[in-house]
Amino acid sequence: MTTVMATNSQLEKTTAEFRSLFPGAPKVYRAPGRVNLIGEHTDYNDGFVMPAAIDFFTWVAIAANRAPVIRAHSCQFKETVTLELALAGPPTGHWSDFVRGVASGLIIAGCKLSGCDLIIDGQVPLGSGLSSSAALEVATATALLGVSGAKLSQLEVVRVCQRAEHDFVGTRCGIMDQFISQFGEAGHALMLDCRSLEFRRLPIPRDVRIVICNSMVKHELAAGEYNRRREDCEAGVEALRAFLPGIRALRDVSLVQLEEHRQSMQERVFRRCRHVITEDDRVQRAAEALSRGDLARFGELMNESHESLRNDYEVSCSELDALVEAARHRKGVYGARMTGGGFGGCTVNLVRADEVESFRHQVCAEYAKSTGLKAEVYVTSAAQGAGEVEVAR
Ligand code: ADP
Ligand code: MG
Repeated sequence: MTTVMATNSQLEKTTAEFRSLFPGAPKVYRAPGRVNLIGEHTDYNDGFVMPAAIDFFTWVAIAANRAPVIRAHSCQFKETVTLELALAGPPTGHWSDFVRGVASGLIIAGCKLSGCDLIIDGQVPLGSGLSSSAALEVATATALLGVSGAKLSQLEVVRVCQRAEHDFVGTRCGIMDQFISQFGEAGHALMLDCRSLEFRRLPIPRDVRIVICNSMVKHELAAGEYNRRREDCEAGVEALRAFLPGIRALRDVSLVQLEEHRQSMQERVFRRCRHVITEDDRVQRAAEALSRGDLARFGELMNESHESLRNDYEVSCSELDALVEAARHRKGVYGARMTGGGFGGCTVNLVRADEVESFRHQVCAEYAKSTGLKAEVYVTSAAQGAGEVEVAR
């Protein structure tokens, strides 16, 4: 089990919250949210992504309770639930589905869990595309394993958490969010091959910050459009298979091959495929740039990713474009792009540390002027993945 260092204050806060509700002396665990730096809509095409864990965590304080139940309290929902340890059943739409799904998945994976009380205190903004859900799952799994003394490999924990979200919450998410929340390393982005699950950690220079701008909008059409994009990608693979029988996913196709067979598919499908294929290529070139410490090149690739998502994949929206527009060409900004599924949510920006405050003010002012909306801005470095928390001295 990884140990992570934290300041005394958050550890004390979580411990105090636990003591106000439950008996016993708790252990404290945490897992981070994440942001994807580049590699959007590539995961379900067996491609590459490059997320980083962010300095916003879901904290869990936990102690065994000698009963055959899990009592869980969320500080965000100000609500306590009691769950049987032998727990199954369909999604209920309640936040406790995440806890139930993770506990049940651990039991199915052969872990012997003890009854316990736990406090969940989440700092990852909920429902903003920064994966408070994966942070909750991975923090809960890490805490349940820690207090029960049960052992499971890190990758199995990731899979249990992903399955919890599929089966108990009803979201068919990829594996990226849980993976980075578990495997993230401070100061590093992680390039993940979504087919083989091989990964590489790449250092992010110390003098840059990852700045996330929340557009504060979420357009209704997101879910339907997401499914349509997946269908378009499948249609592209289907059309190309007539010429390239060995391919399984867009991951296996080059841009030259796609262009060669452009006439075999609708124009829209061609553009969707072009985004995915060029985005996979951008992630690989971004990894090379980062390993050379070449932030200027990395930023250019982020910018190109946004253009491709806007023009070929058509998942941006006027608010995301406005945020990107306001960020680009500012002093100290290497790159700016939408991040996540699209149609609202956040942009991610790489900004020199000494320019972050002026960036924040200017981007917020410009965004308010062009849209009438108030953006939220989160400044972070790449954070450490899940672990038990000890106080830094
Ligand atoms: P995102 O992962 O982008 O933040 P999701 O809709 O996938 O958005 O996950 C948000 C949901 O996860 C919340 O509605 C809630 O059910 C659950 N959740 C996340 N954090 C907490 C928390 N601290 N306490 C209780 N539930 C939480
Ligand atoms: Mg989520």
